[in-house]
Amino acid sequence: MSRLLLVGLGVMGNAILTSFRLHQFSEIYVMDGDFIDSKNLFSQPLYDKGDIGKLKAEVISSKLGKTGKKFIGIPSYLYNISQIEEISPDLIIDATDNISSKELINQYSLTKNVPAIITSVSESKGFAFKPTREYACFDCILSNSFVKQIECTKASLPIAIKLSILLNAFLTDKNNFLEISKEGERRLLINKAKECKFGKIEMYQICGNSIKVLPRLPLDTGLIEKAGKKINDIIIVNEGKSRFVVTTKGEILAENASVNDINNFINKYKL
Ligand SMILES: [Zn+2]
Repeated sequence: MSRLLLVGLGVMGNAILTSFRLHQFSEIYVMDGDFIDSKNLFSQPLYDKGDIGKLKAEVISSKLGKTGKKFIGIPSYLYNISQIEEISPDLIIDATDNISSKELINQYSLTKNVPAIITSVSESKGFAFKPTREYACFDCILSNSFVKQIECTKASLPIAIKLSILLNAFLTDKNNFLEISKEGERRLLINKAKECKFGKIEMYQICGNSIKVLPRLPLDTGLIEKAGKKINDIIIVNEGKSRFVVTTKGEILAENASVNDINNFINKYKL
């Protein structure tokens, strides 16, 4: 393997970059549209005070690039499969807290036959999953009782580090599901769901106070006309008492939307 794409540079992304065996890759692409916030410093050891306000992808590629390995920073969220196609990775690791990105990685892995590992970490447990056509894909495990939902609680760094160390062996393991918790770990081979919803899953995730959405079809709505262009994805964000509908590029489409407005928005545009 030579080219790794790591999507998500938060707690799990930091743990992978410090604990996962990266020497087998000649190029490492690190993708995240987030900026570094002071609250990240406690759980994301690759960032320090001087990095606050900078893009995670740029800080990582510049810091780790000094080790002699080729790091390429992509300061963007994953919102379109063509972003993966451009890189043409040999392995994709998902370290996001975003179900839409996981869904895109699942889709790319299955259609292009490229191995992928999808991870999720919370305060008390973590899991890693390898989508396959023969056994379960990501949509299968979502409809399976093994994973009720992707947890959006605060992620724990010790659990993320433990999981990222185990990933080295899990990559070549015959099981497709690895779960760790304070009690221990278990590895399972999960079969396809009775009704595999691959490509048909609802594409939004309610996470704390925000709703992350990624519609499969481009939206063509009044709100988008207001923004003056067509977009493929939007994020609805709560900031204190205000609620914004923004594009992943940070353009604000609507301000102070009520919960009803957002529910109507989701229903009307089938997000
Ligand atoms: Zn499936």
